[in-house]
Amino acid sequence: MYRFVARHKLTFGVTLLACLSSGFFVLVVSRVEQGRANALNNKQDAAFAKLDEAVRTRLARQKATLAAEAKERKTAEAMQNKQSSLPSARVPSVNSAHYDPHRLDIVVNKKHPLNPRDFVPSLSTVTCAGRGSTTISTQVVADFQALCQAAVEAAVPLDSSSSYRSYQTQVNTYNYWVSVSGKSGADTYSARAGYSEHQTGLAVDFRVPSGATLSDFTGTPQQKWLAKNAWRYGFIQRYTNSNQRETGYTAESWHYRYLGRETAEAYTASHTNSLESYWGISGGDYE
Ligand SMILES: [Zn+2]
Repeated sequence: MYRFVARHKLTFGVTLLACLSSGFFVLVVSRVEQGRANALNNKQDAAFAKLDEAVRTRLARQKATLAAEAKERKTAEAMQNKQSSLPSARVPSVNSAHYDPHRLDIVVNKKHPLNPRDFVPSLSTVTCAGRGSTTISTQVVADFQALCQAAVEAAVPLDSSSSYRSYQTQVNTYNYWVSVSGKSGADTYSARAGYSEHQTGLAVDFRVPSGATLSDFTGTPQQKWLAKNAWRYGFIQRYTNSNQRETGYTAESWHYRYLGRETAEAYTASHTNSLESYWGISGGDYE
């Protein structure tokens, strides 16, 4: 054995050296690889961190944008509420419901013009049980037609001589009456533009079909029937013999104002003299 080793010591030596160096090589390579892997991991970690940061930044930005938008919306809403609750210069803050021309409880008189002055309601043009052509607020159509039908059944057929009048029509109407009666005369029976109930689309001047109209309507079976029954269909006579001081107008037996059935019934049952006194609103002459 010894001899064998002695004979082959060179071979052993070389083999041992080879083994040692290859072990060292493997160690070095594995260290290098480990280093590389670590570097890669670090690189990946950095990349992920970067990505994370980008996502976080984007989310934060989105959150900030949403918050800003919500804040803007809130501010806009608050502004809008503030504006819509702000009465115009002529409109008192009390009873503000009665100054919204979209509502059935609006009061238009010489103290309270329409706001805006050139307000235009949503309109429909219909017949009165097949007669004539009446343009009124869409809110009035069903009850107007029911009233016309009931009048036919009561043998007092009706028609209208005037209903919705635009701001411009009222300018012309008023100017015409001023040319006939002078300003102070016209003011007792014709509204200035922006002050007419006809502009709301809630007023109808009734007449006997192809017959009595305006003051001639007074005393006709149609007028008597209306005075007794109009409230059932949501209408009231707006200008009477007893309320001129409150309304600012002389009596008009033909001029009916739509309030809706419930309010017209309550108003009629209350025997109040005028809408002005019913709702506690100033009226009378122009300021
Ligand atoms: Zn009228």
